Amino acid sequence: MTPSEIISTTAPNLAKRVYIKTYGCQMNVYDSARMAELVAPLGFIATGTPRDADLVILNTCHIREKAAEKVYSELGTIRRLKTAKAERGGRMIVAVAGCVAQAEGAEVMERAPCVDLVVGPQSYHRLPELITRVLRADGAGVLETSFPAEPKFDFLPEAAAPRGIAAFLTVQEGCDKFCSFCVVPYTRGAEYSRPVMQVVAEARRFVGGGAREITLLGQNVNAYHGEGPDGREWRLGELIRQLAELPGLDRIRYTTSHPRDVDDELVAAHRDVPQLMPFLHLPVQSGSDRILAAMNRRHTVTDYRRIVERLRSARPDLALSTDLIVGHPGESDEDFRASLDLVADVRFAQAFSFKYSPRPGTPAASAACQIADDVKSRRLAELQLLLSRQQRDFNEACIGRTLPVLLEKPGRHKGQLAGRSPYLQSVHITAPANRIGAIVPARITAATTNSLAGSLAEAAA
Ligand code: SF4
Repeated sequence: MTPSEIISTTAPNLAKRVYIKTYGCQMNVYDSARMAELVAPLGFIATGTPRDADLVILNTCHIREKAAEKVYSELGTIRRLKTAKAERGGRMIVAVAGCVAQAEGAEVMERAPCVDLVVGPQSYHRLPELITRVLRADGAGVLETSFPAEPKFDFLPEAAAPRGIAAFLTVQEGCDKFCSFCVVPYTRGAEYSRPVMQVVAEARRFVGGGAREITLLGQNVNAYHGEGPDGREWRLGELIRQLAELPGLDRIRYTTSHPRDVDDELVAAHRDVPQLMPFLHLPVQSGSDRILAAMNRRHTVTDYRRIVERLRSARPDLALSTDLIVGHPGESDEDFRASLDLVADVRFAQAFSFKYSPRPGTPAASAACQIADDVKSRRLAELQLLLSRQQRDFNEACIGRTLPVLLEKPGRHKGQLAGRSPYLQSVHITAPANRIGAIVPARITAATTNSLAGSLAEAAA
């Protein structure tokens, strides 16, 4: 019996619904879309609510403790819905995917017995077969968190569905860097890069489906080293140049990058490729060499400053974003001040800053010199004040300028559309709904810390 036959016997003649909830990063957003495509041939159509779903997939994030706890709290709600459905004679399969699944698979099943299936991020291409196993197991949970030898991308169906005007495309997964605080090398495994032509073919399909902007994704995207059509390993800069040849692809971005993997080819791509947007998320994590060493970041503050200089000489209008952690074990006041100094010098257009939170199994979690929570909170508040001032200054400096804005969706107010500037700022302008999908010149008239407002400057491109 095929998986679709087995599922059909559970609810004959009815369309089955899959509800997928995505937590965390854009890579999970991409994975969720692929999961929906994987289960579609089994007869599952997407639904926006778990209430009457036949299959619920929570695609989880493990980067912070709070993210994992949110999953357990959601599973409490799902358990009640599953019980109610069973009382009506139906069946709901509950699957936990993503990084919590990988890191805490057995614990998930123990803490939440309503879960039928736990599947790690490297195994979700096997979802149809695993769902079959769940149905055959009749009550016993199925746990699949191995790192299969075969790259999952070779087994996923073609991502043919349009992903909207701005699409995400995973080109690289996993990480070999082992930063002291990070679970990714344990949950996503070793670095893997998709072959160049596989990426190009997927990008072409996205553009054919209406995408004008593609963000290339990877846990460490600029460690990309995919097999090129000439048999050589291509780095990210070369891949970007190749993608820029695609007619109709107007904007290219990539995230998340590591300073150590910024090579000359990538810097040159920022200089030469107009489709590569002048915005880069380049996490630094700390402004202290002592803490960077403790974090096993494999770069110094001076390295970071030099990389920023090289990038800004190549692309003078490049706007930078970063990640910063305060209160990593051992961080002194002096180390923290060094982070403030670095931020003050580099000036970021955006940033994500967090209090260090220990992730089980990572080296920093068992370090002796943990920082008290009130100290972390104080440092974070001070850092965020500086960062949000910089973000507001950056946005306010756009007032009076005309920026090309890719209009993506209706805005919050009637008659308004929302889109993105080249610098990834959210921009709201008054424009007719039929301009969605266009890149229009927008005259910026107002700015807040988080967004810009403006008006259509002239006829749309
Ligand atoms: S480079 Fe990024 S993904 Fe890799 S271990 Fe460090 S923080 Fe995690």
